[in-house]
Amino acid sequence: MTKKRVSTTNANLLESYLESIQKSGGRITPLVRGILMLLIHSGKAYPLQEFQELLHSKLNYTASLSTIYRIIHRLLQMGCLSSMQRQDGEIVYFVCQNTSGHHHHFLCTQCHKIQDVNICLSETYQKFLTDNLKAQMTYHAIQLEGYCKDCRKLPDSSDDIFKK
Ligand SMILES: [Zn+2]
Ligand SMILES: [Zn+2]
Ligand SMILES: [Zn+2]
Repeated sequence: MTKKRVSTTNANLLESYLESIQKSGGRITPLVRGILMLLIHSGKAYPLQEFQELLHSKLNYTASLSTIYRIIHRLLQMGCLSSMQRQDGEIVYFVCQNTSGHHHHFLCTQCHKIQDVNICLSETYQKFLTDNLKAQMTYHAIQLEGYCKDCRKLPDSSDDIFKK
């Protein structure tokens, strides 16, 4: 038995999204495939304006911002993409690789990497609401931003100590 490689999982994710787009009558243009591929393979979250440059440099595609905008919003509506509003107000788009259940996301503001956070404190909030406000929660949104393992650089001096 061979181990499943990460790239196989990525390919499966891409194929399952393309299939669901096709089933719901959507056209799979090179741009649709390109945007999904870009997000799935990078594991990153990008603002709208960056897609134009990324599609050009990585896939050699030329597309207008309005076309990219239209595709991204269609993919969002179909549930193929997720979005979040960063603290700086910018909306970024990404593909959530985890389709198995409720979770939240950690965004690295340095390299744009998006990672799943598989804990949720909604029960704690609900308990507070019940106890203190006699209220019932129907929605919650939690997002975390910061520096990932690779971007959270230690100062040079302590870096050297670890290497010795
Ligand atoms: Zn996720
Ligand atoms: Zn990072
Ligand atoms: Zn939650």
